[in-house]
Order: sequence, then C-alpha cells, then structure tokens
Amino acid sequence: MVYIGGMEVWTIQKLLGWMVEYFGAKAVDSPRFSAELLLAHALKWKRIELYTHFDAAVGAQRLAELRGLVKRAGEHEPIAYLVGATEFYSMTIRVGRECLIPRPETEMLVERAIDLLRKQAGEQQVLDLCTGSGCIAAAIAKNHPAAMVVATDLCEKALAIAAENVRTHGLEARVRLLCGDLFEPVIAGLDAAKFDLIACNPPYVSAGEYEKLDRNVRDYEPKKALDGGADGLDVYRRIAARVGEFLKDDGALLLEIGCGQADTVRGLLEAAGLKNIQVFKDHAKLERVVMGRK
Ligand code: GLN
Repeated sequence: MVYIGGMEVWTIQKLLGWMVEYFGAKAVDSPRFSAELLLAHALKWKRIELYTHFDAAVGAQRLAELRGLVKRAGEHEPIAYLVGATEFYSMTIRVGRECLIPRPETEMLVERAIDLLRKQAGEQQVLDLCTGSGCIAAAIAKNHPAAMVVATDLCEKALAIAAENVRTHGLEARVRLLCGDLFEPVIAGLDAAKFDLIACNPPYVSAGEYEKLDRNVRDYEPKKALDGGADGLDVYRRIAARVGEFLKDDGALLLEIGCGQADTVRGLLEAAGLKNIQVFKDHAKLERVVMGRK
C-alpha cells in the first residue's frame, strides 16, 4: 500500500480491486466490467487508460464522485444509466432513464435488417417503431448508407435521447424521428411512399413476468418500454393490424420477441397476410426475432 504523508493513496488498481469486491458482495452483474466502466466514467478516461495508468493516484474530488456512483450501482441501478451510455452494435449509444437500455440480443434484429437491406438495390425506406434510444434506427442507418429511416416513439423524452444519438453519429439526414403511437405519426405518401422494412422491439413483457424481472430492470427501466399487457402481446396485435398498409409488396417486418412468444406472433403475422415467416434464435438459443414478408 502506498502512503503519502500518512494519507492512504487510492490507486486505480486498488480502487478496481475494492469495487470488484463490493459489487461481488452486492451481487451486481459482471463486477469487473461494471467497476471498469464506472471508474473510467468518473475519471473521464477510456477504459483502456485504466490499465495504462494502473498506479496513478485518484484525487479526493473524483473519489467522492465515484463513491456515490458505486453506492448506486450497489443498489442495482444499471451501470448504463449511471454512465449515461452503452455499447450497441459497436456504437456508443447514449441512454437515460426515459428509455430502455439497448440489449445485446437486439443486435440480432439489426444484423437481420442490414443483411436484408444489402440484398436490395437502391435507396431503402425503413420504419423503426418504439425506437426508444434510437439504437435500432441509428445502427441500421450507420451500417447501410442507402437506408432512409423513420423512427417513432410515444415518449418525447426518449425521442430527445434518440435525437442525440442520431446527431452524434452524424445521421440527421437519414433518420427522422416522429413522436406518436406506432404508425400514427407516419403520414403515408409524405414520410415515405411505403416501407421496404419495418422493424420493432416493442414492449413484450407479460404482467406475470414483469413482477419477476431482475430488480435492476424492474426498478429502473421505464415500465412503458417493457410492459406488453396481460400476455405481453398487445403491441404485436396492434402492429399486425396495420402493418399491411405501410409495407411495400414483398417488404419485410422484423420483430424482436420474448421467451415463448414465437408461435403466437407467427400466428398474428399469418393472420395479417404476411408470408415466409421465419424465426431466428439468439446466441442463448432462444427464439428472439420473427420475420415475415408482405
Ligand atoms: N429484453 C428485455 C428484458 O429482458 C425486454 C425488452 C422489451 O420488452 N422489448 O427485459
């Protein structure tokens, strides 16, 4: 241990060790990764710099800030909210309490979307419903320069975060954000003739599952972004009811789904007249994305 003038010095290495132990004791997810993210944030450093400055001493002011963040993380407040950002599809996405934190599973939907768009020539019209932080819209636009994206959300505060993400990634010319319920703010013929692709990660947690969510999700993330009604399928029903009006012939619908919802969602899309319905599994081998074509 290093002492200067009788005072204990908190080096990066020592701080990380203490945080990992504290998070471990509080059962915080991924203690090491969480500690690194928080410390880098408090110091305004890149994560890699922690390792290149392992023996650097941290000043009293930064320590005090860090202490507050560590305490909140110990109470299971998500690290992404504490640092105000997360990584999604190799992009830094800003987040806040008004929007859901982008999940790694949702990258699969983006991958499918980009794959599909790349097979088609020319400008592609894309609609992203329930955009939240705008992560899907931004990731599609960033990775497919021929995509013109309209993204909608009910929540104005979430859209303000989405707007920041669109701006940070330089996508203002190709991602338009509209406030309203699902398709409601889209003016057919004005915003786009019809869409080549409609994507959505809707709220899909059922009432029963909601009560059982991890507390870092249930106590901190917006209920509006998670709660899909009694059986979790409310929003899929409402999308199925109108998707035909907004898709081009042969246009595709891509939906993220929750555990055990594939068969019912498939049925809803079939009843809506969609064809070639496919279900894709995520890395945990759970059915996660449903795709259909008009
Ligand atoms: N995947 C999220 C969860 O695990 C749910 C996201 C959603 O409802 N779209 O909590």
